[in-house]
Amino acid sequence: SRDQVSYFGAGPAPLPTSVLEKASQTLLNYNDMGIGITEISHRSPEANKILADTKTALATLLDIPDDYDILFLQSGGSGQFSAVVYHMVSSWVEKRRKRAEQEIKAEASDRALEQKVFDRLQKEVKEELRLDYLVTGSWSLKASQEAARLVGAEHVNVAMDARKANDGKFGKIPAENEWELTPIKKQGGTGAALTYLCDNETVDGVEFPSFPSALDAQSPDDERLVIADMSSNFISRKVDVSKYAVIFGGAQKNIGTTGITIVIVRKSLLPPHAPLADPRLLRDLKLPVGPIVLDWPTIAKNNSLYNTLPIFDVWVAGQVMQSLVQSYGSKKIAGQQEISDRKAQLIYETLDAHREVYQVVPDKSVRSRMNICFRVRGGDADAEKAFLAGAAEKGLLGLKGHRSVGGMRASNYNAVTLEAVQKLVGYMEDYAKGGS
Ligand code: PMP
Repeated sequence: SRDQVSYFGAGPAPLPTSVLEKASQTLLNYNDMGIGITEISHRSPEANKILADTKTALATLLDIPDDYDILFLQSGGSGQFSAVVYHMVSSWVEKRRKRAEQEIKAEASDRALEQKVFDRLQKEVKEELRLDYLVTGSWSLKASQEAARLVGAEHVNVAMDARKANDGKFGKIPAENEWELTPIKKQGGTGAALTYLCDNETVDGVEFPSFPSALDAQSPDDERLVIADMSSNFISRKVDVSKYAVIFGGAQKNIGTTGITIVIVRKSLLPPHAPLADPRLLRDLKLPVGPIVLDWPTIAKNNSLYNTLPIFDVWVAGQVMQSLVQSYGSKKIAGQQEISDRKAQLIYETLDAHREVYQVVPDKSVRSRMNICFRVRGGDADAEKAFLAGAAEKGLLGLKGHRSVGGMRASNYNAVTLEAVQKLVGYMEDYAKGGS
């Protein structure tokens, strides 16, 4: 039964039992309406309240400033790999178009203006459109590949590929002075259309220890538009949201059920402040135009209800986040961070105490607090099989590493309790001493 199992899956991941108990009730009868939550209209007052409450809880936990919007979409984290490109390229083109128009206006007649602007844009896209990616693991790699698929590899600047300095494997983050970022252009210009990072690499167990100082704005004119995928470490530590243009993440790890993706976006990137480029212009420039269901301005304008939103998934996320708000009070997400750090520390300490049996995969400086990747006896197949079998006997499940890298992975998401972690480290101790 559920209370005999401790689950360390990487996503979908465990959810608090109390939320699931309440969820099973709401599936049958939501708020005494006599109908279940998956049956009510996404445009009903109840659904609107669920949306509003969930947004408030997230904004409270992460101290999201007022100049950011919170969007809920389907599409998964992977859908946002594409949305990010559609949106930020369009935004870049519009800024460049405005600047070209202003500068050319003075010297051209109206009729010639449009053509001249277009010619200049075509040249600028060819020569200057760059999307910077920091590749620290398989998810940022995938995101960069999607960008190359959509706009062409010639526009994608892999500013850092962590495998290069590490024998072709992920597991380290090279020093910032080795990154090759597109320079920030000042005076009304724009640098890279985006600078992308994956804050926590779920497969490789690599997490940025903090916001990279190389990406900090040096002045208010700076246009470093940082996009972060936080799918696997969302609401697990303090985040200075104002440093990011966009943060996104799928819900199915720290937040809730599979089905929604959350996007936190700086409002200045959404119309009417910065109207996005005309789709015709994008097509003429041979740049991609995304599907409407991934179009952030459309989703924002419609309070995330442009099309049918799975309200049940929003409700689950809301319950999880509201319970964190209640548990941690004024500490907000720092309260969760303390616990997440403590649990991760317990596991790493145990692994490090038995180095002859366990080898942590990533470098110590970038070890993920969420996905703890390690090998048993140097990756010996029989030893790893035995470790997993012994764990399963004790009700410790979901410890197998991603199929692409093998080994073990203990995912330490918010709903993994301290007791579950203590059980795991107890087993690790026993196994290391040969007593499993
Ligand atoms: N980014 C990260 C960091 C992930 O861990 C995952 C999924 N494990 C994704 C993106 C892709 O998410 P989805 O499967 O929801 O598309």
